[in-house]
Amino acid sequence: DPSRNKYHPIDHACWKKDAKVPYMALAVTLAKIEEISSRLKIVEILSNYFRSVIVLSPNDLLPSVYLCLNQLAPAFEGLELGIAEGILMKAIAQTTGRSLNQIKADAKELGDLGLVAEQSKCSQRMMFTPAAHTVPVVYGKFKEIAKMTGHAAVAKKVDKIQSMFVACKGPEARYLIRGLAGKLRIGLAEQSVLQALAQACTQTPPGQEYPPKKINTADGITAEKFKQMVEKNALVLKTTYCECPNYDRIVPVILEHGIPALPDHCQLTPGLPLKPMLAQPTKGVQEVLNRFDGIRFTCEWKYDGERAQIHYTEDKKVSIFSRNQEDNTSKYPDIISRLEACMKDTCKSFILDSECVAWDLETQKIKPFQILSTRKRKDANEADIKVQVCVFMFDLLYLNGEPLVKEPLSKRRSLLREHFKEVPGQWIFAHSLDTNKMEEVQEFLEESVKGNCEGLMVKTLDEEATYEIAKRSRNWLKLKKDYMDGVGDSIDVVVIGGYLGKGKRTGLYGGFLLACYDPENEEYQSLCKIGTGFSDEDFQKHTEFFKDHVIESPRSYYRYDKSHNPDHWFDSVQVWEIKCADLSLSPVHRAAIGIVDPERGISLRFPRFLRIRDDKAVEQATSAQQIAEMYKNQDQIKNQEADTKVNE
Ligand code: ATP
Repeated sequence: DPSRNKYHPIDHACWKKDAKVPYMALAVTLAKIEEISSRLKIVEILSNYFRSVIVLSPNDLLPSVYLCLNQLAPAFEGLELGIAEGILMKAIAQTTGRSLNQIKADAKELGDLGLVAEQSKCSQRMMFTPAAHTVPVVYGKFKEIAKMTGHAAVAKKVDKIQSMFVACKGPEARYLIRGLAGKLRIGLAEQSVLQALAQACTQTPPGQEYPPKKINTADGITAEKFKQMVEKNALVLKTTYCECPNYDRIVPVILEHGIPALPDHCQLTPGLPLKPMLAQPTKGVQEVLNRFDGIRFTCEWKYDGERAQIHYTEDKKVSIFSRNQEDNTSKYPDIISRLEACMKDTCKSFILDSECVAWDLETQKIKPFQILSTRKRKDANEADIKVQVCVFMFDLLYLNGEPLVKEPLSKRRSLLREHFKEVPGQWIFAHSLDTNKMEEVQEFLEESVKGNCEGLMVKTLDEEATYEIAKRSRNWLKLKKDYMDGVGDSIDVVVIGGYLGKGKRTGLYGGFLLACYDPENEEYQSLCKIGTGFSDEDFQKHTEFFKDHVIESPRSYYRYDKSHNPDHWFDSVQVWEIKCADLSLSPVHRAAIGIVDPERGISLRFPRFLRIRDDKAVEQATSAQQIAEMYKNQDQIKNQEADTKVNE
C-alpha cells in the first residue's frame, strides 16, 4: 500500500528484486491517488511507488512514468491511445459474456467505462487463472495497439484488448480500460508526476548497491533540509523537461547518473522539440506601458497562423514542430525545400521560432488563418500544395552548438538578423517597432490589424528578456485587436454538449454547451451556452462532426448544472476559440467555482464562435484559473474591489 506512512520501498512492495513490476502495484497506486485530493499526499503515494521501482526494477521506471501519464511516447512521435468507446464496449461484452446493451446501460449509469469494466469483471467466474499483468508488458501492448492501422485494425484491436482484459484483476480492469480510452482521469497532472519522481530520487537515489543504504527519510537530515533537497531536484527535473520534453531520454539519465546530472545530458538539441514560450493577455496599450515602465521593449506584429519551431541539425536534418511538440515536418515540404534560402553560410545548426502564415502569391499579402487551416495535415506533396505559406521569423533559440534561451531577446534578435536573411514572400523577420510612446504603439497596432494580423506581441528586450521555455510569461504580452471588447483575449473552450435546433435549423445543432478545463481537478466545468457567430456552413460542419462523438450520458468529469442539460452530450474532443463581451458570476455555470466565489462559477456573456482550434488538445483549453484571472481583471471588478478596500 503506497499510501501508508513510513513506506519502505523493499519491505512494503508486493514484488521481489529484479521481477517485472506487477501491473497491480501500479493499479493500486492509481486507485489510492484517485481516492484523495490532497496534492502533497498524491505526490507522496506516487513517489513511494517510484521508490520501489527504482530499487527493485529500475528498468520499469520508464513504462511506469508513461502509464501514469497515459502517454506512450514523446508527443512528436504521434503515438496516441484513445480507442473508441464502441471498440472497448465490444471487448468488455465479449470477454464477460454480457450483452452490449447491458454494458451500454451500465456506462450510462456510471459515466465511466473503466468502472463498468471493473464491475463486469467481478461478476465473472474464471476457469483458470491467467498470468498476472506486468507494467512493461501492458505498456508494450498499449504501444502495439496504438500502432495498429489498416482495414483489419479494429478486429485486431478488439482481440488484443480482450486478451488483456481477461487477465485483469480488481482495479487493473478500471485503469486498463481508461488507459486504452486515453482518459485516466485520476487527478494526476504532469507536474505532480515530475514532483513525485524528484521526491523519489531524493529519498531513494537510483544506482546504489542493493539493498540501498539511503531509504526512508534520509538519516540524520531534518525534514526542512529534506524538503529543500526535493525542491532543488524538482526544479532541475522540471526545467530539463521543458527543454527536452522526452522521458525516453530523461529517465535513463536519472537512473544512471541521478537528477543533478540531467543538465549535462539532456540539453536543448536541434531535432528535439521544446515547449514554447507563451504570452499573457492585456487589455490595452496603457496596461502594456504600465507593466513595462522603464524597461526597453519591442512591439512585433502578431501573425495569425501556426507556430513553427524549425530545427536544423549539423547533418542538415530539418524538423518542424507545432506549438504542442507534434511533428509537422511532413506537412510543410515547401518550407523544407526552401529553408536554405534563408540561411547564411554561417548557419550550421539552429532552432528557429516562427509563425507560418497563409500567403497570397498574387497580392503578396497575408491570408487569414481560416485559409491556412484548409491545408492538408500530413504527407503533402510539394506539387499538390494549394495553400502557399510565408514564414515570419521572430526568435532564435539555438545556434551552432549554443543554446540561446538564457540570452536576452535583443541578442537573440540580432543573431537572428545576422545569420538569416529574408526572402520575399517566403521568409520574413517579424515586423517590429521599438518604442515606448503610447501613440506609436497604438498606431502600430492599427497597422498590424490592417496587415491581417491579430494585433501585437510586446516583448522585453534586455532586462527579464530570456526565452522562458514552457511559460506563459509576463515578459511577452499580447495586445489583440479585440481588446476594446474589455476582456482582452479570446477564450479556448471545449464543446461538451449540443442543443437541437428549431425552425430552419431543424436537424442540426443550434446551440452548444461549452466548458473550460480545470487541471487541478481534471474536470471540464461548464462556462456558457453558445449559439452565435456561426455561419450556416458552420452549423452543418459541427453537426456532422459531433454526431460521431455523442455519448449516452455526461462524463463523470463534467461539472454542470442540470438546468442546462443539453439534448446530446459530447465526448471532450474539440477545442473552439470564442470571444465574449464580459465574464460574470453565475449561479448555474461551474467554471472556476471555488476560486472567485465558493459556490458560484463564472460564465461568459454574449459568447461568439470564432474558429476551431485543431492545434490545441482539450487539456490545453483555457484553464479555470485563467478564467478566474480574466474575470478579476475586468475594470468593473477591479474598481469594485478597490471600493471595497476603501470602505474596509
Ligand atoms: P493561448 O490561446 O493559449 O494564449 P496561443 O497559441 O493563442 O495560446 P498566445 O499566447 O495567444 O498563443 O500567443 C502566442 C502565439 O502567437 C504564438 O504561439 C505564435 O503562434 C503566435 N505569434 C504570432 N506572431 C508572433 C510573434 N511575433 N511572436 C511570438 N508569437 C507570435
